[in-house]
Amino acid sequence: MSATAQAAKPVAARRFRGPFAGALAYAAIAALAAVAAVYTPFDDYILHILVETATYAIAVFGLTVVLGLCGQINLAQAAFFGLGAYAVGLGTADLHVSFWLALVAGAGVALVMGALLGMSTLRLGGHYLAMVTISFQQILTLVMINWIPVTHGPDGIGNIARPALFASGHGFLGLCVIALALVGYVVWHLPETKLGRSMRAVRDNELAASVSGIDVYRVKVAAFALCALLGGLGGGLFAGGFSYVSPDQFSFAESIVFLTMALLGGVASPIGALIGTALLIVLPETLRFLKSVPGLYLAIYGLAVILIIRFMPDGIWGFAQTYLRRLMRPAPFAQAAPDLVLVPAKIEAPSALEVEGLSKHFGGLKAVDGVSFSVQRGSVHALIGPNGSGKTTTLNVLSGLYAPTAGKIALDAHDITGLPPHARTAAGLGRTFQNIRLFRSMSALENVVIGAERKGNEIPPGDLPRGHAALVERARAALGFVGLEGRSRDPITSFSYGHQRLIEIARALAGNPTLLLLDEPAAGLNSTEKLELRGLLKRIAAKGLTILIIDHDMALVSDVASHITVLNFGRRIADGVAAEVLRNPDVIAAYLGAEPDVAHRA
Ligand code: ADP
Ligand code: MG
Repeated sequence: MSATAQAAKPVAARRFRGPFAGALAYAAIAALAAVAAVYTPFDDYILHILVETATYAIAVFGLTVVLGLCGQINLAQAAFFGLGAYAVGLGTADLHVSFWLALVAGAGVALVMGALLGMSTLRLGGHYLAMVTISFQQILTLVMINWIPVTHGPDGIGNIARPALFASGHGFLGLCVIALALVGYVVWHLPETKLGRSMRAVRDNELAASVSGIDVYRVKVAAFALCALLGGLGGGLFAGGFSYVSPDQFSFAESIVFLTMALLGGVASPIGALIGTALLIVLPETLRFLKSVPGLYLAIYGLAVILIIRFMPDGIWGFAQTYLRRLMRPAPFAQAAPDLVLVPAKIEAPSALEVEGLSKHFGGLKAVDGVSFSVQRGSVHALIGPNGSGKTTTLNVLSGLYAPTAGKIALDAHDITGLPPHARTAAGLGRTFQNIRLFRSMSALENVVIGAERKGNEIPPGDLPRGHAALVERARAALGFVGLEGRSRDPITSFSYGHQRLIEIARALAGNPTLLLLDEPAAGLNSTEKLELRGLLKRIAAKGLTILIIDHDMALVSDVASHITVLNFGRRIADGVAAEVLRNPDVIAAYLGAEPDVAHRA
């Protein structure tokens, strides 16, 4: 115990010093920028460009969150920007409320609209989201133009007030710089939070995210709402900066401009958002001298954007980062990874899993047809059968990716039949996929941290550091257990197929499941890797973890499994103690390949 306690201290100390010093340096730079904004004698023209850049960039940060982090499209950011702008415009000019109140109200309305829009469409997926956001954008534009008594119609709103403290052009720019710095700080650190990690997991692989315990729908709605909030905030500041707004500033075309800014600079990072925004505001200004030739200005501008995106698909910042990353390798871990501790389930029911009359029909195809079996606690139970016999479908129904046509599933004596995948994971289910599903933009460690972070994971208390550091230690322990701790910082794409399988197993183990579902873990492995896997499975089993494994490798199955259930055409044809099942003539006939007379006798 004392050894681990000593090991924990420096980790905690490092974590405190690192981010704290970073935040302090950032605050100092932001303060300097704000002071420079207030005291540099910019003329009005430059002042306008800077205010525009800062307020637009806040809205583009929203796209960094929703598109860059979470992979969801939003083609209505100008509408949310407009909501914020109109709230400040109507609030200060017509209703004479304070700028701050109007700003908060506008951002709040944008947040609520974003959440509602997200909640109504994010279950449907990509194309619908694009369509619905476009419709929302169009509706809002129509309202701004046609609801004349309230919005003043195409004339727009003038005489928008600023707060007294920031009434001058320079003062207001200072305010925008502070807002930009604050929002930028939040967006920059978001990927390191649980929510941000969940967003990245959803973007990389929704199915894997859900079985790692992430509520995919909620995370998407959160990302969308946050994006809308930043749109509203940016728009509110924009209205204060220009004291006049009109509907054409918040049209669909502007939404496309916001999107282009994000993609051009690099959608994955707020730095990219800022670069893209500045470029798309400054570029047209510098090309002004071409305006004497009609169309030429737009052609050059368009061509420049296309060329940059064509040759830098990850945007300008993404391109720069590939070089910067080589310079900024993270320091190796000072201490060895701790041992993996699997906390046994508190429930004492003899079976970890009870499956009763489970069916899954796809139209007329009965992929799984009335299957029952139970997995004893602490055992390794194999599910075998010919290709297409319904094994993967069974696992998908067990983990909640498919709703069963009929039947009941109980995990640790709790009925989980109606639960969504992430709730089953929270209840103690862990799994891997037949086709590996990892979060491909992340390192091995980040993948496994997401597994460790699942709700209900009881990270052993006591000696280990807490919070994020505990998750990292837990993930390192899991990676160490599968033999890959030394490469934890490497990107997923650098691992062999066999090692990717091990990382997937580590991700499930880090979540401390009470039942581990493995779908053909030996598929695609060479003979050495298969031998290693066999050893790993035995070590997992020796820790008392219950395993349900699908595999075709009979040597592996008969070596590790104590019980076997056999499927054929979706039906259970045998079930029981391994040695007996493997001697069962039905099984031999259907699966193991046997003399016809054996099959006939059955
Ligand atoms: P196994 O894992 O045992 O090889 P599967 O469970 O993947 O088999 O498939 C069982 C049957 O169900 C197959 O005939 C397959 O084509 C069918 N099936 C699986 N998933 C789907 C799906 N999403 N839609 C339609 N049919 C499916
Ligand atoms: Mg399968």
